[in-house]
Amino acid sequence: MKHFFHRLGTKISFIFIVFVLASSGFIFFFMHRGMKHMEEQLYDSRLEADINYIEDLIGSGSWNIKDGAIYLGDTLVGDGTDENANLEPFLAHEQKTGTFSYVFIICEDEGLGYVESTDTQKGYEQGHYLRVAGSTKDPDGNSIVGTYISKDVADVLDTYGEYKGEANVSGGIIYCLYHTLIGEDDKIVGAIVVGRSISEMKSFVTTTLITVIFSIVIIFAISASVLLVFIRHWTHTLEDVSSYMKLIEEGTFPEYKLQLRTHDEISQLAAGMNSLVEALKENSVLRIKSETDPLTGLANRFGLSRYSENIFEDSYKKHTPIAIFILDIDYFKQYNDNYGHPAGDEAIVMLSELIKDIAETHPLFASRYGGDEFLLIMHNYSKPDVEAVAEILRENLYNTNFVHAFSPISDRLTISQGICYGIPDDYQHMNDYLQLADSALYDVKEEGKNNYKIVDAQIHEEYHQDASNKS
Ligand code: GH3
Ligand code: MG
Repeated sequence: MKHFFHRLGTKISFIFIVFVLASSGFIFFFMHRGMKHMEEQLYDSRLEADINYIEDLIGSGSWNIKDGAIYLGDTLVGDGTDENANLEPFLAHEQKTGTFSYVFIICEDEGLGYVESTDTQKGYEQGHYLRVAGSTKDPDGNSIVGTYISKDVADVLDTYGEYKGEANVSGGIIYCLYHTLIGEDDKIVGAIVVGRSISEMKSFVTTTLITVIFSIVIIFAISASVLLVFIRHWTHTLEDVSSYMKLIEEGTFPEYKLQLRTHDEISQLAAGMNSLVEALKENSVLRIKSETDPLTGLANRFGLSRYSENIFEDSYKKHTPIAIFILDIDYFKQYNDNYGHPAGDEAIVMLSELIKDIAETHPLFASRYGGDEFLLIMHNYSKPDVEAVAEILRENLYNTNFVHAFSPISDRLTISQGICYGIPDDYQHMNDYLQLADSALYDVKEEGKNNYKIVDAQIHEEYHQDASNKS
């Protein structure tokens, strides 16, 4: 699970989802505000025109009150009764345009009252503008003259002469524009209101917004899918590069090349890795070449020195035994002198092959130390195992029956071996082991050759310490 959240693809997908949700939210919020504003602007100008139109329909002249009834010029608009309500112009206009309109008369003497809540309308405190004519009828077809504008709207009208805003009328949301009607002596005689249902508009706006958001989400989803394809592709390449690097870290050169799927930067990274591995391979080929003895194919002194430093350090740290062999062909000078240099080379190659064979059953490091000398290193073997290898070498060479008619000690080619065996400690270095192996070899040569001698590094160390104590 943890691994899943650490993946690049998961992180990018998560960021993308957060981005989509945040941007959809922002778009919804700003579009909603913008559309509401536009809608109000549209209605404002439309309703302004409606008021003028209604006035024209009713008649001309100025508004005035006579005997509790309101008139426009000489036209009676209404007095609060159904009989005298001049409904027709309002109804005709509503049918034609869908705009509601009413005229109210101011009733300064009427007491204010409170109307109980109904299902469709919250209770409101009624003001002093009484409806005398208008376009709305109740569900039974009766006009709704005789009701009051709510007090809050009436108060605004008294103060500003105008009110606009949403109102809940007969269960629907209506956007309304109220104007006070001014009589001849500049006194308020009533009010006129026009309004349009915005319930439909509101649901249209909501549907439009939802459609827009849905489309955005779809577009995002499509682009996310395309992006995911690219991300998968990139992460695949990155995963390839990382497993490639792991192989190199473990010390092996990958056999295959990283696949280049496109030409983008990540593919360039993969291409870079390919060239790097090629260069490293080439370097390592060169290094192997420089550390290999061309005649025998064994390591040369350079190869030996790199290997011995590492293995000696390893042996010291792990406290494991190590054995250093120095092998030297007996009477090789005579062999060379009598059989010729090329034959001498063949003898050296034959011995190296013999060593390689033994290395197959007893893994060991073998190098050509120079001339007719070889140096072997056996790590983590018991002393009897090391001696066994020395013995096998001697025996196998004997069984090879490689004729050396000019050797004073045998009818065939022989070798002498000096071996130093021990577990490296704080006082010993690779050179100490080499010197001990070399002096063991010297002893074998002195004592008649065709033999091996194994010396214990620790015993010599004690001697060395004793000697230093004395001085
Ligand atoms: P010992 O038994 O004491 O080892 O005596 P040796 O005759 O083997 O004497 P030494 O090891 O000193 O002689 C090494 C000879 O090996 C000297 C040289 O002619 C010969 N030699 C060195 N390198 C090569 C080589 O690459 N090829 C050939 N054919 N001979 C080599
Ligand atoms: Mg020799």
